[in-house]
Amino acid sequence: MKVFALIRLICTIGLITIGLISGHSLAQDLRRPVSQERDFSIAPFSVDITIPIGHRCMGVLPTKSKEIVDPLEAHGFVLSGGDKPIVFLALDWCEVRNGAYDQWRDALAAAAKTDRVHVLVCSLHQHDAPVTDADAQRILDDAGLPKELFHPDFQAECIARAVAAIQTSLQDPRPITHLGTGQARVEKIASNRRVVRENGAVSFSRGSRSGADPFHSSAPDGEIDPYVKTLSFWNGDKPVVALNAYATHPMSYYGQGQVSADFVGLARRIRQQQLPDVRQIYASGCSGDVTAGKYNDGSQQNRIDLTNRLALGMAEAWKITKRIPLTQIVFRSTKMQLPYSHHPDLTEEALTAAIHNESARTEDRILAAMGLASRRRVEAGQPIDVPCIDFGKAQLVLLPGEAFVGYQLMAQLIRPDSFVVTVGYGECWPGYIPTKAAFADKFEDKWLWVAPGSEARMREALTTVLKWKSE
Ligand SMILES: [Zn+2]
Repeated sequence: MKVFALIRLICTIGLITIGLISGHSLAQDLRRPVSQERDFSIAPFSVDITIPIGHRCMGVLPTKSKEIVDPLEAHGFVLSGGDKPIVFLALDWCEVRNGAYDQWRDALAAAAKTDRVHVLVCSLHQHDAPVTDADAQRILDDAGLPKELFHPDFQAECIARAVAAIQTSLQDPRPITHLGTGQARVEKIASNRRVVRENGAVSFSRGSRSGADPFHSSAPDGEIDPYVKTLSFWNGDKPVVALNAYATHPMSYYGQGQVSADFVGLARRIRQQQLPDVRQIYASGCSGDVTAGKYNDGSQQNRIDLTNRLALGMAEAWKITKRIPLTQIVFRSTKMQLPYSHHPDLTEEALTAAIHNESARTEDRILAAMGLASRRRVEAGQPIDVPCIDFGKAQLVLLPGEAFVGYQLMAQLIRPDSFVVTVGYGECWPGYIPTKAAFADKFEDKWLWVAPGSEARMREALTTVLKWKSE
């Protein structure tokens, strides 16, 4: 009977391991009937994060905010029942970087009684919306440019609002028993920046509003992920929260100081009106190289068209959503170091000179301060967290910066059997994160602070957090 004893021992160790990972004791697991083996809950929260008039947009746009066309919002939730509470928050902002990213996560972690690693913050990346970077702004303060990148007091107010909203929501969390998964093809929004000219030359010249140009509107979509994915949380047959993710830059037009959540925020509001009892959250997938450029000429009508197409895709994904029992919330995270760019303009000396060049444009000095803040963060050895929430049949993973869509496709390929929702624009200091192929195609941009070699680190991180099997 030694064999049976050994099998029993192995099974017991297995159960203890699962119990430890999911934060539940073995005794608790054995006591409960299988149908209600876990108490999972979700506490959704939302806050207004609209910038004041006179605030910089996109970090470096010359025209500051002049008019609020529609508000900027933040939507998120606290998930409980795993090892520790997990916070997810999606901001209608362009980017949150460096010290500002830490400030958001630390405050939300304290509010939800968890730690920084369990806090997933992402931006939707609208362009008439702020970039915040506490370290860059401090450098600018010292150079006589206070509040030029962003207003720290305003961000502190937004964080305080989110903290209060979390605390209120946690007083009445909603039990969740099921997970919903649905995806649908979105028509005529996403297209890749990369185009091939008649002479075979490759360029990344298709911008977010290139649709008026016949070459750019007729070139193929290129590499995209055509699906909007909706991951939802249910209490029995009652849906509570729907998180929608789609990989595209979210701009229809921008740059005139007209603050807006743009077509992605407008589509989210349409879905919220259609389903008032289900909190709608939208997050941008990995879309550094994806915009609406093929289909968008930058007109006001185009903003409406893009809104309706995205809302339609979200509605389709909802219609075919499959509901499955929620049996686990397992959290994994790994630390990733991306190599800083080797560009000669991005050395400590060159950046410092650019910041203090009083005859230069303010926008260029801001960009240099952002580059220096990121450089110092990398030199100090502060890694990027790559977190993944594993629900068994579905995973939610957050990647940094403007990761190219190839990384989102890579994530799905790592778990082809599973419903993988990849969100981009987490910690945003890297700017664009091109794939190896895009570096080989000589992708270059001022909004690029990482070096070739990034793909290997991204692949390793994704494999670490996705490939681990819990069952
Ligand atoms: Zn961008």
